[in-house]
Amino acid sequence: MAVPQRRTSKTRRDKRRTHFKLTVPGMVKCDQCGELKLSHHVCKVCGNYKGREIVKQ
Ligand SMILES: [Zn+2]
Repeated sequence: MAVPQRRTSKTRRDKRRTHFKLTVPGMVKCDQCGELKLSHHVCKVCGNYKGREIVKQ
C-alpha cells in the first residue's frame, strides 16, 4: 500500500534496509585472485578451484 514518504520514520526506513546486502549470500573471495565468486564454483576471473587451474584462460 502506498504510504506518504514523510510517514515513514528514519528508523522504520533504515530497519527495512538492514536486509539490503552488498553481495548475494554464497559469495566468497577467491583464494587466487581475491575476486568475489560463488562458493563451490570455479572462479570466473582466474578459472581456479581448490588451488588448481581448471579453466584455461
Ligand atoms: Zn579467481
